[in-house]
Amino acid sequence: MASKDLIVTFDGPAGAGKSTVARLTAKALNFLYLDTGSMYRALALKAVTQGVDLRDEEQLLDLLRQSQIVLEQGVDRSMRVRLDGDDVTDLLRAPEVNASVSLVAEFAAIRSEMVKRQRAVAESGGVVMDGRDIGTVVLPYADVKFYLTASLKARAQRRFQELKNLGYSIDLDQLAADIQHRDALDFSRTHSPLRRAEDAILIDTTDAAIDEVLAQVLTECRNHVR
Ligand code: C5P
Repeated sequence: MASKDLIVTFDGPAGAGKSTVARLTAKALNFLYLDTGSMYRALALKAVTQGVDLRDEEQLLDLLRQSQIVLEQGVDRSMRVRLDGDDVTDLLRAPEVNASVSLVAEFAAIRSEMVKRQRAVAESGGVVMDGRDIGTVVLPYADVKFYLTASLKARAQRRFQELKNLGYSIDLDQLAADIQHRDALDFSRTHSPLRRAEDAILIDTTDAAIDEVLAQVLTECRNHVR
C-alpha cells in the first residue's frame, strides 16, 4: 500500500490535542484533514440560530438534510467551515455551540447522516479524520488509529488558551466543568459513544509536547507502509 492510500483516525475527549495533531499529521503526509467535530458544531450553530428545538430529532434531521457543510482547507491544513455558503469558522467555538453540540450529536439519525458524509470524504484514502467515533464506527477499517487522552486539568488549560486566543473571556473552573459535562454526554450516549477502538494506539498527551506526539504518530504511520 502506498502511503497516499492510508486512512488515519484520531479519537478522544475534548482538549486532548486531536485536532492539532491530526491537522499536522495531514500536513506532513500531504493528506486531506477532516475535523468531524466541526460538522456537528455547524449543525448545532444552525439549530441554535434558527431556534430549532434541540430535543427534536426529526426537526434537526430536516435541518441537517437542508444544510451544506463544506470544510475548506489551506496548504497548512487549517480549516474554514462554510455553512450554506457562509464562513462560520469563528462562530463554532461560541459558548452556545459548546453547550448544545453534544445534545445534537446524541441522535442516531443525525449521526448516520454525518457518518455518510464523512465516509464519502474518506473513499479514496489519503485522509486523516478526527472525532469521537471515527476508529469505532465511521472508519473501523482505517489503517492506523490513535486514541488521544489527557488529564482534565491539562485539557481545560488547553481549551482555555485556545478560547482566550479567540477573544473569549471565560473562567477556567467553569470551562473544566463544561468539558467534564460534555465528556460525560459523549461517553455515555447510546449511539456511538466515545470509546477507544481495540486496535487504536493510546497516547496520553498530558505532559507531552505536540512535537513529540506528532513524531510518534508519523513513525506509526510510516511503519505501516513499510
Ligand atoms: O471535537 P469537538 O470538540 O469539536 O466536537 C464537538 C462535539 O461534537 C463533541 O463533544 C461530540 O459531542 C460531537 N462529536 C461527535 N462525534 C464526532 C465528532 C464530534 O459526537 N465524530
